[in-house]
Amino acid sequence: MAERYHNYVDGQWTESETGETFETTNPAAPTDVVAEYERSSAADADAAVEAAAAAQDEWANTPAPDRGAILRETASILEGRKQELTTLLTREEGKAHAEASGEVQRAIDIFYYYAEKTRDLGGTVKSASGPQTTLYTVRGPVGVAGLITPWNYPIAIPAWKIAPALATGNTLVLKPAEVAPAVALELFEALDEAGIPDGVANVVTGFGATAGNAVVAHDDVDAVSFTGSGQVGQLVYDQATDDAKRVQTELGGKNPTVVSDSADVETAAEIVAGGAFGTTGQSCTACSRAVVHTDVYDEFVDAVVAEAEAIEIGPGDEYDMGPQVSEDELEGTLDYIEIAENEGATLETGGGQPEGDRFGDGHFVEPTVFTGVENDYRIAQEEVFGPVLTVLEVEEFDEALAVANDVQYGLSASIVTDDHSEAERFVREIEAGVAKVNEKTSGLELHVPFGGVKNSSSETWREQGDAGIDFYTIEKTVYDSF
Ligand code: NAD
Repeated sequence: MAERYHNYVDGQWTESETGETFETTNPAAPTDVVAEYERSSAADADAAVEAAAAAQDEWANTPAPDRGAILRETASILEGRKQELTTLLTREEGKAHAEASGEVQRAIDIFYYYAEKTRDLGGTVKSASGPQTTLYTVRGPVGVAGLITPWNYPIAIPAWKIAPALATGNTLVLKPAEVAPAVALELFEALDEAGIPDGVANVVTGFGATAGNAVVAHDDVDAVSFTGSGQVGQLVYDQATDDAKRVQTELGGKNPTVVSDSADVETAAEIVAGGAFGTTGQSCTACSRAVVHTDVYDEFVDAVVAEAEAIEIGPGDEYDMGPQVSEDELEGTLDYIEIAENEGATLETGGGQPEGDRFGDGHFVEPTVFTGVENDYRIAQEEVFGPVLTVLEVEEFDEALAVANDVQYGLSASIVTDDHSEAERFVREIEAGVAKVNEKTSGLELHVPFGGVKNSSSETWREQGDAGIDFYTIEKTVYDSF
């Protein structure tokens, strides 16, 4: 049965003034309609921003621990619905049950974390030059935050923007991705039940060029936090900076794992396959390039192919790897597979859609491994956003670093090595916002900063942990000689 969701504006579940709606479908079984949503116009987005602006002063003046109590209650409500939300996430976005469950838990943990942070929003005391002066800093909210999110972590990414924004006294409008908005709307249901005051948190569904753009462009929006593709991120960044708004954009990746000649090859293959094929390759931090020392190259290729072939593909509620989120994403991956073959890459495994009853018309694609790739091939340079791994052979560690860095992106990177000096140099010289040793590129902790360099990020502000507090606050310096 299809759910019917509305916008949440000024504390009310409201219909779009357009009277129009759109639907989402289950990527494992596209005839299954998951939900129907408001197709919001710019006017709907404007009304949401105006509600947020009207509620801002009172929320900013609410004692921070009282704001924290609402976040804590929201976390507790989400916790009580974890199973239901997990099922909904898998049905609409497609990821495997364990991944969906982990993502819902992450959203819960983020709300608990920022609930506690409301008692610890920072500020410093310094020695003043005057004998009777107290010199200190306090943090206040930026104002109204406009939040634009992608479909691939449809509850965790909204959570890691909403929770710090609210904790620090901002009001907000979220425009979630149109491909999978359900769990974000369930998050607003929880906020509503937890007693969030009218207008403090608002959500409008619809498409980027209309509703999303209107949120970013509205004069009353003071800060814009965007996660998504580089192309849209650039538009959002330009619009926000033209209007002198605070802005952060977190974008795509082409994340490498370097495999050293000192690595245990089986472990390296497990790490790379986990990064490449987890979430069907649809993570911004997914590993899409293995940069492998020639001495272990053949053995590594055999091991990673075996890992890929052992993955059970199928509907996410029962199997290890779910479908791609949409027909468009599937087509994009299949196009890249064709491009790689035309460029001269060698297909080691995968390369197409799996066959069998359980796949039906779902957007399934096989875990795919290419070798024989030159670093200037498009498959080695462009983000595919599907379960496609490119293995690149290198002669030595310096070449591995050079190849790993020779892309426009710099989000996450890892190395598998038994050599401490290699690990140390990798951490220092890799051009990435996240560097990992003997771990997969994907997977993040919630209490440390996250963000990329180069074309993976605007490099303005980080997200998560204390960095989340920084983005949503303005520091005021107080000279008090009272
Ligand atoms: P997308 O850029 O197509 O859409 C992201 C959001 O922007 C959606 O809500 C969309 O409606 C909205 N949007 C589109 N046009 C807009 C406009 N003109 N103005 C305002 N908003 C607009 O991205 P996607 O396909 O949803 O997500 C996949 C991309 O996200 C990948 O490139 C992935 O690497 C990236 N991503 C990055 C991170 C990170 O933290 N770096 C995390 C997850 C995903």
